[in-house]
Amino acid sequence: MASSPAKTDQIIIVGAGVFGLSTAIHLAARGYTNVTVFDSQPYETSKYNYLSGSDAASADLNKIIRSAYGEQTEYQDLSTEAIESWKAWNDYISSGECIPEGMSKTDQVFVNNGHLSLVDGTELPPFEKATIRNMQRAGFMDTQLITTDQRHTEMMRTRGFGYAIDPFQRQNKGKGYLGVLDATGGIAVADKACRFALHKAKQLGVHFVLGPKSGAFAGFRYGTAGTVIGINTKDGHEHLAAKIIMACGGWTPALLPSLDGICETTAGSVIMLKIPRHSPLFERFAPENFPDDRGYLKIGYRGTKYTNPKAQPDSKERSVPITRYTDDDQIDRIPKQAMEVFKSFIADFLPELAEEGIGIELTRLCWYTDSFDNHYVIDHLPNQESVLVATGGSGHAFKYLPIIGRWIVDIIEGVGLDRPLVKSWRWRELQPGQTPVNVLMEGSSSPRALKNVKLSTELDLRLSTRSRL
Ligand SMILES: Cc1cc2nc3c(=O)[nH]c(=O)nc-3n(C[C@H](O)[C@H](O)[C@H](O)COP(=O)(O)OP(=O)(O)OC[C@H]3O[C@@H](n4cnc5c(N)ncnc54)[C@H](O)[C@@H]3O)c2cc1C
Repeated sequence: MASSPAKTDQIIIVGAGVFGLSTAIHLAARGYTNVTVFDSQPYETSKYNYLSGSDAASADLNKIIRSAYGEQTEYQDLSTEAIESWKAWNDYISSGECIPEGMSKTDQVFVNNGHLSLVDGTELPPFEKATIRNMQRAGFMDTQLITTDQRHTEMMRTRGFGYAIDPFQRQNKGKGYLGVLDATGGIAVADKACRFALHKAKQLGVHFVLGPKSGAFAGFRYGTAGTVIGINTKDGHEHLAAKIIMACGGWTPALLPSLDGICETTAGSVIMLKIPRHSPLFERFAPENFPDDRGYLKIGYRGTKYTNPKAQPDSKERSVPITRYTDDDQIDRIPKQAMEVFKSFIADFLPELAEEGIGIELTRLCWYTDSFDNHYVIDHLPNQESVLVATGGSGHAFKYLPIIGRWIVDIIEGVGLDRPLVKSWRWRELQPGQTPVNVLMEGSSSPRALKNVKLSTELDLRLSTRSRL
């Protein structure tokens, strides 16, 4: 087991996304007095806002928060723990005790507007059935509400979730609207939540070095025995530390080749539509029901996870993010196939957007790290007990922003290592005969590699009322 740092030891966190921010907060809260977070992005000015230049999985308008995890009750329990903390964060903001610059007491970082999972057909799939059963077993009665069950729809109306019964007005069109509303869930206002987390960490004494040179990790600094004793940053400085937490999201696999086969960087596709305040649709998609308080409606697609394999210094190919901080001219252009899915979805579920002349305002590739089994990777680097990796969010880690750091600090301190989740986050490899949830590292010949994929064009941003697929 790796040795735990002393409370006064220097601890470095590389990456100020969900994993890095949460770790910083919980290290400081547990009494570690010398914690520094490095990030190459100037989040104090860009404020985690994608529209203001931030580009990371955590820098987004909103993210889903749900307890619904089917048979994966460990994550369901983790969501319960997180949702309590999200509510506490809202209370903390409204009390005025911790408000980042530019935010106010009325800001919420979690909106409990429910998470609706619509299904095809007339029967609930096994995942939804398992969620309903497991939430009841955990004592959360009547939190998973079926949209076609009269008793449940009455509860939805009474509890203020009436808008989620048939939000796409499918019934009027003679179409199915069967789904399950997870009434415990909703959205995190992602950029504001990260701003709050950064501010809270600073209040607790964490130091931040943010910027493209001084904040950028350039490599490890090794001691005489070949052990990692610090990091070098792009401004040429070295920073010594007893523990280094690598939480670089989609950038991590290229920085740490030992993650080969465990994690790969992939992209989800995102479109954003802006609903003008004067539009009759604005009220229907009001912030408390649907999009963000800036009038954006965000739609995401991860049906195909695209990759960007590039040759690395060791001549192996690893997928790396394309962002506005890279030179690539593919920035912001999503694959044609993803665009077709979006348009087909909108034509089927939201034709009124095209009728109102609302088009797609912007497209985005959102880079994150998938593991082969969808579990995170939170463990020490093999043979380097001073380096802990915290990544592999696999498209579902944002919701744990307020609490994942508590688990990470436990792992640093060697506490509760036999808990099932902690075991599932350990260094691992795909076992013979094991079917991966995500197939990784198919390389540049993969049909998912962006260089083999047709990208959408400017003209594609118009919507049609007719389904294309
Ligand atoms: C399209 C999409 C939708 C999603 N939806 C949801 C959802 O609804 N609910 C949910 O719970 N989760 C969701 N997720 C997953 C969630 O966004 C991620 O799991 C989480 O944000 C990952 O956080 P992170 O800290 O690992 O990475 P990031 O947020 O990417 O942060 C990594 C940080 O490391 C920094 N960095 C990288 N390299 C260096 C370097 N060399 N030096 C210094 N800093 C560096 C980057 O600048 C960045 O700030 C979604 C992800 C995507 C892509």
